[in-house]
Amino acid sequence: MRSCNTCKGTYPDVQADGTSYFHQCPPLSVAELHAAITAGTLVLTAAQQAQLAAAQTADLKTPPAAGTLSQVDTFLQTLSVTRKNARDENVVVVGKDTAGNPIVHAKADPTGFTEV
Ligand SMILES: [Zn+2]
Repeated sequence: MRSCNTCKGTYPDVQADGTSYFHQCPPLSVAELHAAITAGTLVLTAAQQAQLAAAQTADLKTPPAAGTLSQVDTFLQTLSVTRKNARDENVVVVGKDTAGNPIVHAKADPTGFTEV
């Protein structure tokens, strides 16, 4: 198994059916979005800020029932925010070697992985 050094997700490099698996970091989760907004590391657009404020107001007016998502979390689920240093192990052909074989590189691999 491998552990992604960016998102900390773990995955096999070869799947059960024998095919290669190419990891791509998922967008930030709702919990990560909350943390990033609180820390000020994620700046929402003006429209998103307005939607978030409306959702916060709606949650104050009508608190979510136990076991249901808040309006804020429902809104945050609609966002797809790429994490910093996102990795994408899917490959692109960048050229050919002298024998004519393709030379491939991962689309994005700023942090690599750790064998676990
Ligand atoms: Zn990852």
